[in-house]
Parts: sequence; structure tokens; C-alpha cells
Amino acid sequence: MKNKSHIFGLNNVGDGTRSVWSGEQVEHPYRATQTPIVASAAYGYQDIDEWYDVALGAAPGFIYSRMSNPTVETLEAKLCGLENAESAVAFSTGMAAISSVLYTFLSNGSRVVSTKDSYGGTNKVFEEFLPRMGVSVTLCETHSHEQIEAEIAKGCEVLYLETPTNPTLKIVDIKRLVAAAKKVGALVIADNTFATPLNQSPLELGVDIVVHSATKFLSGHADAMGGLVCGAEALIEKVRHYREINGAALDPFSAYFIIRGMKTLALRIRQQQSSAQAIAEYLLTEPLVESVNYPGLPSHPNYFIACQQMRGFGAMVSFVLVGGMEMVKTLLPQLQYGHCAGNLGAVETIYGPARTTSHVENTLEERIALGISEGLVRISVGIEDTCDLIADLKQAFEFVRNVSCSAPCAKDEVD
Ligand SMILES: *Cc1c(COP(=O)(O)O)cnc(C)c1O
Repeated sequence: MKNKSHIFGLNNVGDGTRSVWSGEQVEHPYRATQTPIVASAAYGYQDIDEWYDVALGAAPGFIYSRMSNPTVETLEAKLCGLENAESAVAFSTGMAAISSVLYTFLSNGSRVVSTKDSYGGTNKVFEEFLPRMGVSVTLCETHSHEQIEAEIAKGCEVLYLETPTNPTLKIVDIKRLVAAAKKVGALVIADNTFATPLNQSPLELGVDIVVHSATKFLSGHADAMGGLVCGAEALIEKVRHYREINGAALDPFSAYFIIRGMKTLALRIRQQQSSAQAIAEYLLTEPLVESVNYPGLPSHPNYFIACQQMRGFGAMVSFVLVGGMEMVKTLLPQLQYGHCAGNLGAVETIYGPARTTSHVENTLEERIALGISEGLVRISVGIEDTCDLIADLKQAFEFVRNVSCSAPCAKDEVD
């Protein structure tokens, strides 16, 4: 199918132009300028021979929307443009994408190496579902490149990476670990949700397959769910085949929302990460904050690697509040410009403690073992004005300071 990425040579243009134009079709029915939502389960044919050719993949066209759908294909083309990928395939959610990629390439007797800090759902696939299929899983300390390399060297079929991680924003050196994986012939999969395609290009760093939760920054408005997978066609066709059979296809309505959201990706990310940097720097000066995690801070343990492999540091920040969960419960309701919710990547700022968001599946003991403090708050910085977000945080911290100063008196009265 003809699309504008070929016409404009989108490799030579800026991120904003790419976000708007990549994957867009030249012609739509009725001369519409926007991608139509093709809400049709099946596609009709008068000519049985033509139908047969399309069904066999010998001619272009559509048969049944679990296999492929025009709106969904436009979304897939759009991601290819942003990730510089040959091919992409969309799923109903990010977890459908991630689990499908793992189930496509792993089977009884295979081994996968990953890190302890992967997304909670991904971690459940590693710890609960893959071992049942006879796949052995080794989860390494995320900060220890030496341990990850040593485990890869023992032999594995898949190396699964996620960077920056959720919610502690750890950074792993993609190039270095890809080199180790290539030595043992392992397939490398990377979750690029937090970085977004604008800030990090894992395929250029040697990764084979990139996965995204399109629910987050790609869609950007927290009103649709989706997942995307991209890489070389030889690999993606296997994943597409798996999707046809397991059925976790994306519906065209969600695909349309995600396409619409992706057009403003560059605009959003520029604003969001410039605010994130300012918020991270402000939090460093706040006495009620024990520590701040943001890859754009020179104090970040892997700041140097982040500078090398990322073009921007992203819109996710996390910090540990002095006083733990009790203080979190006092602080969060005071914030005016932000939802408290288990989501990220939207135009609104979103606050959430690890206990109820990224690590809701874990017990307190598991969170402690992972180094995730009860006072940890994750911020997905939205597109609000930077000064308003900082002023909002300042007034909320001021409130907490007053409450914590008066707390002993209140307690005395109760006693
Ligand atoms: C949200 C998220 C996922 C899962 O995506 P869903 O669309 O919620 O299924 C996977 N990886 C990361 C990093 C995420 O933030």
C-alpha cells in the first residue's frame, strides 16, 4: 500500500513531521483526509479466484479483521516510520503484544534472560506462565551488567530488556547487552514504552524486536488501549501469525485513537520531558524527598549510558518521600493538577505509588526485595505548564510539612 512515508522521504525530517505524517495513506475513500475507521469484521468478494489469492497472501487485500484491518495497518505503518522498522503488528493491549512475542519465540526447553525490574505484567509472564510451558527464566539484578552478561553467556534463546525501567527509572546499556546476546545467538526484545521511539531507537542499537504499550505515550490521551511490536519482517511475520491464531488483535476504533494521538507525540514529549527535568531538579531541593530517580539527572547512576543511547530522558520521574506510605497518603490528595491513577503517558500528569501501580501484584516483602520503598511515588509528567506543576507540588509539600509538624499534637489529643 502506498503511504506518504515514501513520498516525503521521512527519514530526513524532524520528529514533529514524522509523528504527523509517517504511515499516513495518500488516498482515502471520499477524499477524506483522515484515516477511516473500517469497522468491518470481514471483506466481501464476488470473484472467488481473487478471494483465494488474497486469502493465500498472493494478492493484497483483506479477508477478516482478526488477520488484518485497514485502520490497524495504518497504525502499524505509523510505528514503522517512527521506529525505522521494516514491519509492525498491533495487539489489543501492551501485554497482549509482549506475551505474544514471548510465546512466539519461546518453547519447551528454551531459556530467557531478563531483569528483575521489568513491567509487572511482563514479570508475571516470566514467573508464572513461561515456567509452566517448560521455559526457564533467569531474572538478573537490573543494575548489574556483569551478572546479565554472565547469564547470557550460559546460553539463552531470548534476552528481554526494558529501559528506562518502571518505576525506578534504571537504565540498562542496550548495545553492551546486545553484543553479549549476539555471541550466543539470542533474539533480543526491548520494551521501548517509557523512552518512546523519539528518544530511543533500540533497533539501531541492535535489538531485534521492539515492543510498546501503545496505551501510554503513543496514544497519549489515556482513552484507548493497544500494543505494538516491530522489527524485521522475517521475525514479525511469525508474530503476526501468532496473533491471527491467539486472536489478540486490535480493534479499528482503538487503532484510530492511537493514530490520532501519535500525531502529537513529538509535541507532547518535548513539553513533557522538559517539565520532567525541571520537576526532577526541583524535587532534589525538597527536604521531604529522600531521593529522586530521573535519567536526566547527572546524579543518576547510569546518566552516562542514558546520554549515549537516548536523545531525550523521557517524561517519567519517581521520588521517595520521607515518611513512607503515610506521607504519600497525605501528599497525593493535595495535588490539584494530576490524576492519582495506575496509568502513564497521558496529557494529564498522573501520580501513583508503586504499591498501587507498577508493583500492585507484589507483596510488601517482594517490593522491599526489589528496593521499592513504600514512599516511592511515580510521576508521569503531563503537558500542563511546567511552572503550574512545580507550584502544585510545592503547595502539596507545604501541606505535608504542616501536617507532619502538627501530627504529634493531634496524636496527644487522641491518647
Ligand atoms: C503499561 C505497560 C505495559 C503493558 O501495557 P498494557 O497496554 O497496559 O497492556 C508494558 N510495558 C510497560 C513499560 C508499560 O508501562
